[in-house]
Amino acid sequence: MANINEFDLIEEYFAGQVASYGVNLGIGDDCALVTVPPGHQLAMSMDSLIGGVHFPKNADPELIAERAVRVTVSDLAAMGADPLWMTLGLTMPTSESHWLAGFSRGLFRAAEEFNLCLVGGDTTRGPLAITLQVHGSVEPGKAMLRSDARVGDIIFVTGNVGDGAAALAVIKKQLDVGKSAFGYMMQAYYSPKVRVREGKIINAVASAAIDVSDGLMADLKHICKASGVGAVVEAERLPISEPVRKLTDPDVALAWALTGGDDYQLCFTVPPQKIARLEELQAKHKLDITAIGEIVRGPDCVCLSDGRIVECDVSGYKHF
Ligand code: ADP
Ligand code: MG
Repeated sequence: MANINEFDLIEEYFAGQVASYGVNLGIGDDCALVTVPPGHQLAMSMDSLIGGVHFPKNADPELIAERAVRVTVSDLAAMGADPLWMTLGLTMPTSESHWLAGFSRGLFRAAEEFNLCLVGGDTTRGPLAITLQVHGSVEPGKAMLRSDARVGDIIFVTGNVGDGAAALAVIKKQLDVGKSAFGYMMQAYYSPKVRVREGKIINAVASAAIDVSDGLMADLKHICKASGVGAVVEAERLPISEPVRKLTDPDVALAWALTGGDDYQLCFTVPPQKIARLEELQAKHKLDITAIGEIVRGPDCVCLSDGRIVECDVSGYKHF
């Protein structure tokens, strides 16, 4: 397979997107120039996905790119920010046209879903690694922080939890599944539903929020620590999808829901006096959310099943 040079590949695979909001100068010069929407703060976040660590090295490049955009945008969703621009650090062992064509297709498909414009990046040779930085806007003082949960707040989660861990088990071939469940799992892993829309809506009522990347309990613990509170989650309330329930026994499904990562749902807290408003928003916008527990005095962050504490490893995935 032919290798193409750095400048041709940028031109061919990355420079073609139509400039979107606030892009004064996109790919091609030493820097991009952008204008932040007047009266807004810039929200910035970066994620690196390493081949062989975050995704199988031989995975379909289109799916890798799609997943990279989604998991990175998820952090903007968790702050209630509006996605605007992104930059891409791409390191590859070789520059194969076929791989790049798939990669850029997946990248732009996901980018367009979130109105994200690729405004720059860097391309280098080395072991396969993808770093995306996303930029979004939010009104000053309006971003949902981890540090503002209070005792008495109700804890919610969007969508289902446990799909990401189940999908990873399927991908690692630890589990055999039927065709339709396989499709569901691949979608959950490579194309997680990122909750940008929901983040902006719940921002009106949520006290704190986080996206579930390391596992529900590990991420909820981040909220607890930052806010100086504790949490009680009720196992029976957890939204666990039908495909996951069918795939395994209830104990494993519960463990995936509590400690498996890669769900990219939002976990957020809402003060009791704002629950009525949340219910109005839920009905109006057809929000897929579930109340799963309550913020209590700290520092313990636990899950109860039939009144007993469910033992789970809440340390989350750690690289070091
Ligand atoms: P410099 O040497 O000035 O850092 P580069 O030659 O690395 O610039 O990049 C040239 C232009 O292409 C820049 O605008 C840069 O942002 C963009 N670029 C490089 N790699 C990528 C990439 N993988 N995706 C998007 N834009 C890229
Ligand atoms: Mg330069």
